[in-house]
Amino acid sequence: MSGGSEMTEDYRARVRAWLAGNAPGPVAGLPPAEQLSEAKRFQAALYAAGFAGIAWPEEAGGQGLGTAEQQVFAEEAAAYELPTYPFIVNMGMCGPTLVDLGTPEQKRRHLPKLLSGEEIWCQLFSEPGAGSDVASLQARAVRDEDGWVVNGQKVWTTNAQWADFGALLARTDPDVPKHAGLTMFIVDMHAPGVTVRPLKDMSGKAPFNEVYLDDVRIPADAVIGEVGRGWQAAITMLGHERVSIGSARPSRGSALGFEAVLGLARRQGVTDVPAHRERLAGLYAHERALELFNARMRQEIQAGHPPGARGSVAKLAGALQLRRAIEAAGELAGAGAIAWEPGDRHGDDLALGINSAPASSIAGGTNEVQRSIIGERILGLPKEPQVDRDVPFRELKVGTQRTEDAR
Ligand SMILES: Cc1cc2nc3c(=O)[nH]c(=O)nc-3n(C[C@H](O)[C@H](O)[C@H](O)COP(=O)(O)OP(=O)(O)OC[C@H]3O[C@@H](n4cnc5c(N)ncnc54)[C@H](O)[C@@H]3O)c2cc1C
Repeated sequence: MSGGSEMTEDYRARVRAWLAGNAPGPVAGLPPAEQLSEAKRFQAALYAAGFAGIAWPEEAGGQGLGTAEQQVFAEEAAAYELPTYPFIVNMGMCGPTLVDLGTPEQKRRHLPKLLSGEEIWCQLFSEPGAGSDVASLQARAVRDEDGWVVNGQKVWTTNAQWADFGALLARTDPDVPKHAGLTMFIVDMHAPGVTVRPLKDMSGKAPFNEVYLDDVRIPADAVIGEVGRGWQAAITMLGHERVSIGSARPSRGSALGFEAVLGLARRQGVTDVPAHRERLAGLYAHERALELFNARMRQEIQAGHPPGARGSVAKLAGALQLRRAIEAAGELAGAGAIAWEPGDRHGDDLALGINSAPASSIAGGTNEVQRSIIGERILGLPKEPQVDRDVPFRELKVGTQRTEDAR
């Protein structure tokens, strides 16, 4: 979006000048360790320049500015391939949840480092037997005199390979119904008993991991929110996650943003073919509608109106837009989507985009789950029957492990 008040245009000029002087070149070709150190260096520079946590409250280490400034920054940053991937969980999920629910000491200890990239965080919710129905999870935290001892396995944990801390959802009371017996904790990912194993996806990269927790000790003051109210904390984090995933703009590096697909059509010389024009127009219209929907939602959040289930609309619409883009790009590229000359950056980027994008229909809650949330909470349709809702967790048959193992 361009245009705006004098204030945001001044801000835009400041952001533009800063990015022009400080944005690093693409890091994708660097060895992994160098990619990470370059990303950390850039995040620290963002923080020092006052561009990390733009709309976070000042007392949380943010800049206390508005969604207009955040939007301006996102628009200007979209012209670059910024190495912010290691911090997506910090900025979109764990950070905002600590802002909402953290104790003063947790906020003081973690938020500045989480914003400056000194700490990397991950989200330890999903398990082999608990994804959509995450309240069925079996990781068990048992209280002793010094704190808690955790045992269990998590899976699909994005960025755990780099993480210093995780927001862990674990069962603290198996004698009450499944949603009532959970607690969220801060877990030190370098603590004894934490093992992280990478999982490769079909793009050939390993963006997520399995995490094993064996007798991991967690101090008593590491509870996020309240003991037994982990489900409410999880809802808070998932709400932030859906808004964050749904409102992410395609960056210049994304082969599935409208501009990139238009570039592909231009290189193929087919921008005047009616079928392609129609597809491109549809792609543009949906991308723009989604941008405006998200801009409005961010303004409402800033004005104190939480988006609630509308975060699911953004999340679902973002995933559907990527599918639309895969179809359009696939039609345009034809065989070029699966075979290209070595060193052809466009071919590499497109294949990576096509292989990575379907995950967005699963990560942060599947499309089917978002549709159920929208149906029940926005459209007022009847709730799905949940026969296990009032049954003590101990009496349920859940998951891939024998239930006794988890207790
Ligand atoms: C790229 C990526 C990153 C991820 N990162 C993280 C992370 O950092 N931390 C983390 O904790 N998790 C993470 N996840 C896990 C993610 O949250 C789960 O994969 C997701 O919630 C789905 O759970 P599941 O894979 O167990 O599938 P299941 O829940 O087993 O679902 C299987 C199928 O059944 C459908 N289904 C299930 N229940 C219903 C229902 N009630 N109504 C209709 N259909 C239903 C689903 O839509 C899906 O099609 C990530 C996943 C991906 C793909």
